[in-house]
Amino acid sequence: MKPELTLEQKFFSDLAERLTPKERLPLLDWARKNRRTEKGRNFTFRDRPYLKQIYADTHDFIVIKKAAQVGGTEFAISNALHFACEYSPVTIIYTFPTATEVRNFVAGRFNPSIAVSPYVKERIGRVDSVSVKEIAGSFLYLRGSFSDREALSVPADLLIHDEVDFSNQNILSQYEERLTASRYKKRLFFSTPTVPHFGIDALFEASDQHEWFVECESCGHGFLPQLEQIDKDKAMLRCPLCHKACSRRRGRWESMNPGAAIRGYHLDQLGCAFVDIESIIGKLEGPKKYDKRMFENFVRGQASAVGVGSVNRGIIMQRCFTDAVQRSDSGRGRFMGIDQGGRLSVVISEVIDSKRCIVYMEEVEDDDDWSRMHRLMALHGVTTCVVDYRPEARAARRFAKQYPGVAWCCEFVTSDKELYFDKDEDYLVKGNRTEILDGAAEQIRDGRTQLYSKDEVVETYISHWERLARVEEVDRLGRTKAQWIKQGVSDLSFADAYNRLAVLIQMGDLSDIAPTSEVADTIDRGEGGSWYTAKW
Ligand SMILES: [Zn+2]
Repeated sequence: MKPELTLEQKFFSDLAERLTPKERLPLLDWARKNRRTEKGRNFTFRDRPYLKQIYADTHDFIVIKKAAQVGGTEFAISNALHFACEYSPVTIIYTFPTATEVRNFVAGRFNPSIAVSPYVKERIGRVDSVSVKEIAGSFLYLRGSFSDREALSVPADLLIHDEVDFSNQNILSQYEERLTASRYKKRLFFSTPTVPHFGIDALFEASDQHEWFVECESCGHGFLPQLEQIDKDKAMLRCPLCHKACSRRRGRWESMNPGAAIRGYHLDQLGCAFVDIESIIGKLEGPKKYDKRMFENFVRGQASAVGVGSVNRGIIMQRCFTDAVQRSDSGRGRFMGIDQGGRLSVVISEVIDSKRCIVYMEEVEDDDDWSRMHRLMALHGVTTCVVDYRPEARAARRFAKQYPGVAWCCEFVTSDKELYFDKDEDYLVKGNRTEILDGAAEQIRDGRTQLYSKDEVVETYISHWERLARVEEVDRLGRTKAQWIKQGVSDLSFADAYNRLAVLIQMGDLSDIAPTSEVADTIDRGEGGSWYTAKW
């Protein structure tokens, strides 16, 4: 830490600093001179000509919407080290989604970058841990946006946010205030994009939107690389004008939205000589091909809504993360929802301030392992549980019957009622599938469903919700009917919907929605499928 200066000392030191302009090496030259590759070689931009302008850019607010492996993290490391050394003493805050990512980054990328660079290595100070590093008298703080639930309270001069789309949006916005007192107020946001108009994609939309035009060495034509320009037989990119091969080692940046206050760059693997065309073809077709959305996100660096349903990552990340600390992995008075079919998927919640807070989720691969469900019932002191009734009706019934008045099987029927108790069976509730999923989706959109932290199972939860699409169809009589269509595995969304029903059973007033009709409802097994007995 710097010793406290008296006001007078501070005045003279600030004055002295202003009177003697520092010879600061620009980042591009600094990186060439002082950074080294993993193999200890000097930095070159031969295969990554597009990075040159980004390294030379002195804009104080840069966002990079990027494909995988195009040099984004290297740039952020260069930026942090250069700023720490050349502008010392400054404070830098560098965030990742979680603590695991911080650890992996420090051990796998950051520390090795320091180790190979003698210039930086000899400037490392006494403070050198996973979360704080002293570099040339500057301080670099590394934080997980979900693991460190409060924004760091130190003032910062540079904020670097990696994997913006996977980070706690609320915490990221809190970090903005850390810049208030700084002379520099520098920001670097970068991420692989996910859904449109969210996270890095939203920032890029607000930026001056630089796109990389590859230049043909043969005819000089500049073009935005597209899939149609790939020659699959020769595994090369061809110029759309003269059809000759392009090495992708020449190009230029062009702004698509000039004048915007934020500087934005989009990095696409197609325009990046560092990523060979053959590997891109492999991700487009062949045994290890990516699905369309993954291809757009990770290869093209583009946001994509392909196959994304009515509840998407943007909605969940922005509205469903509470800053409160999760109380514990066990408790009393909790609610449980279980989906079955291939595996058992469980969502456990508690209700705080009229919000359904999800405290635990698990997917049990063996759908015979009901003993795990019994253990979870006890561990969380579950007071109401709703279990998917199909396909293993007997197993579900056996489970529910062991907890009379606590556990219920739920069957989807053609009724237009969201939920009601079965007249004849005391373990059974019935309801309309669309209404039930609508209810759960609405809670997410309203922020009445809350998640505490982001880990693997929460990522799965997000992807399961994204795979459910709400589709409205107009029938022959002109009536609109909505249906939720599964576009892939979405078990945790169903477990989530059952969990909400458990809350409804215990805390809602179900007597109001008991059936009045004497006509029995028929079973509804969702779209397609042999259980789907009714068509309107
Ligand atoms: Zn050409």
